[in-house]
Amino acid sequence: MLQQTQVKTVIPYFNKFTNKYKTLESLSKINENQILKLWEGLGYYRRAKNLLATVKLLVEVYNSKLPNNLKEIKKLPGVGDYTGNALLGFIHNYPTIAIDGNVKRVFSRYLNKMESRINFVKLIDSNKKNLFVTNRNSDFVEALMEFGALICKPKDPKCSKCCLNKSCRYLKSSNKIETFKKRKIKVMNYNIFCFVSKKKQIALTKENEIKFLKNFNLPLMKEMKNNSVNKDWKFLKNYKNSISNLSLNINLYYKFSKKIPKSYNWYSLNDNKEFIPSFTKRIFNQVSTLF
Ligand code: SF4
Repeated sequence: MLQQTQVKTVIPYFNKFTNKYKTLESLSKINENQILKLWEGLGYYRRAKNLLATVKLLVEVYNSKLPNNLKEIKKLPGVGDYTGNALLGFIHNYPTIAIDGNVKRVFSRYLNKMESRINFVKLIDSNKKNLFVTNRNSDFVEALMEFGALICKPKDPKCSKCCLNKSCRYLKSSNKIETFKKRKIKVMNYNIFCFVSKKKQIALTKENEIKFLKNFNLPLMKEMKNNSVNKDWKFLKNYKNSISNLSLNINLYYKFSKKIPKSYNWYSLNDNKEFIPSFTKRIFNQVSTLF
């Protein structure tokens, strides 16, 4: 849940999940639509699909136990080196480090060396004796992430409070490396065309080639290449929608219609039961103002 998402956003979802499904077995019994509905609004829906596939595999193949080696753990859907190492540390107290952006920055600053010039796996491997000095390896994995998020922060690190400030090369150096990168925002312009019925329905299709929402039900979306739009379509609204590093400038059009293309299906604008990603929900809200 925390991939690309802030803790404060995740907390209510996490609580809802763990209150509803208290064991791996109970979670393994639900279907994809049910998990997507619970995930609704959190975004990056691939995570929900991977979570469900992983839980089913753990219950059915691994007797509800997490494997205790990286090679096996990485067979779980959506689990790569980072999550695999985090799980090995958290669950099995294995002496390992989950190398995320925070951890990379801490090492990079401490050595005052650009991240791109550090082989982190080799560095951790060759310093195991110095890094894992207690048996509290699971605490150490978490502490290092938190240290990067709270003390050695991207902007304005709290060096005066830092336990490493006596030996940190970044702090001592007159030639400090640059570690703070501003995220590049890509602006994209889209026209969205909604077939609407008098019964308060909107037509959606999965046949969309929009990368960031591939495989979800959407109205017709076209990149705004010029301003010429067929007169049959009525302009409803211009609005902005941000997704990750994309800033979308959207012109929303609609047309009342009884007929829709083959690959489309009608959805009620009031539907509360179906899983609907928040991007599509915003469109629902705008189109609802027509009624
Ligand atoms: S002294 Fe400052 S820069 Fe160095 S590790 Fe600590 S917080 Fe980071």
